[in-house]
Amino acid sequence: MIKFYNTLTKRKEDFKPIKEGIVGLYTCGPTVYDLAHIGNFRAYVFEDLLHRYLEYRGFKVIRVMNITDVDDKTIKGCQKEGISLREYTDRYLTAFIEDMKTLRLKNPDYLPRATEHIPEMVSLIKKLLQKGYGYRKDGSIYFRLSKFSSYGKLSGIDLSQIKPGARVDVDEYEKEDVRDFALWKEEKEGVFWDTEIGRGRPGWHIECSAMSMKYLGESFDIHTGGVDNIFPHHENEIAQSEAATGKRFVNYWLHCAHLLVNNEKMSKSKGNFYTLRDLLKKGYNPVSIRYLLISTHYRDPLNFTEKSLIQADNTIRNYNAFYQALEFCKGEKRDKYVKDMIEKARDGFISGLDDDLNISLALSEIFNLIKQVNISLSEGSLSAVDALDVKSFLEEIDSVLAILDKEKKELTEEEKGMIKEREKARKEKDFTKADEIREILKKKGIILEDTPYGTRWKRL
Ligand code: AMP
Ligand code: ZN
Repeated sequence: MIKFYNTLTKRKEDFKPIKEGIVGLYTCGPTVYDLAHIGNFRAYVFEDLLHRYLEYRGFKVIRVMNITDVDDKTIKGCQKEGISLREYTDRYLTAFIEDMKTLRLKNPDYLPRATEHIPEMVSLIKKLLQKGYGYRKDGSIYFRLSKFSSYGKLSGIDLSQIKPGARVDVDEYEKEDVRDFALWKEEKEGVFWDTEIGRGRPGWHIECSAMSMKYLGESFDIHTGGVDNIFPHHENEIAQSEAATGKRFVNYWLHCAHLLVNNEKMSKSKGNFYTLRDLLKKGYNPVSIRYLLISTHYRDPLNFTEKSLIQADNTIRNYNAFYQALEFCKGEKRDKYVKDMIEKARDGFISGLDDDLNISLALSEIFNLIKQVNISLSEGSLSAVDALDVKSFLEEIDSVLAILDKEKKELTEEEKGMIKEREKARKEKDFTKADEIREILKKKGIILEDTPYGTRWKRL
């Protein structure tokens, strides 16, 4: 049984979706005003792991990730460049989708843009107005927090402690109570929509309530984000949605801890960030970046250093070299323990990830299997059939981890010729020449191993 730590109840709970076998999953997506940084990607990589693992466990996942393409930053950005909001946000949305692909993030089923869901937001706001949860002030519309008695249940915030003057929301408009937040902002110039509720643009939170409920229903299974989303964004999503429908909005809330730099949150405003492209330019492998982000439990803060990225890179190289080497096993005698070891690794992998995505436990089972199999692999005694079993197991779990390099790395004719020449030299006991050839190939990233079954090669 899968268990998740639910931010709402503050404990681990058995996971039971509303509809058997189907999971509705909503992820707060990017504001497309600039390139996402790898801190943002920590959240998206965690959500990708969740998405993939649920599928591995047999669930059909319907995943929605919103695209915030209208807010203060996007509006400022397009005005500064003198281009349309659409043109401006398209640029960053395209970059985001490219980055997702580079990091092997699965595509969500829906990537709804806020600007394409204004009617849905308007109808939700109308409902809130009718029920007395929304009120108008100077052309804008606000949510009346005092009417929603369970406000604070997600974040545990005690609103009575918030003093007048300390704003819950970031807008600068006048309202009944400083703690209230904007549903709709009156706007007469620049970017606005003419709607039944007036001329203006949506507030900060309403898009996620409107778009999640449109694609997943009024109540759905899992909502995710980084811990900074808990308050006020997710708290406000709950208030808006539950006030409008009278139903429980989301059953499981999962939040990842931050990616840190020198123990401070990586963020645009602090300037302590790397975009994915910054790291690719430095020559890092995107799969190593994915691995680094995935391999710490999502609820533990992760301090980013280039040293840790280099370590992740080494792990990925060794992991893939092991995988590639399985291709060339020629041993004939099956070892009955290999099957048992695979079973044990699979059980450990599942029980680790079932426990609130405990990735460290899951990975330690895999590395243990590799360590064991590596013994017979280096001796050259691993049978071709056992090697194939291990290979297909790694491919099976790669539907979750997505870190394997499955491209066959064949040798060029020249490289094959060099290996043959070296074998000839060895037979003729010309070890100096044999070693020279080995060194040349090593420089090309091809490692040779002489086993009782002949010379094996692997590419690093
Ligand atoms: P934003 O564009 O700031 O709304 O962030 C998009 C997503 O990235 C949200 O889910 C945030 O919680 C998440 N996020 C932002 N910074 C970090 C960070 N340093 N570590 C982990 N997640 C982050
Ligand atoms: Zn959101």
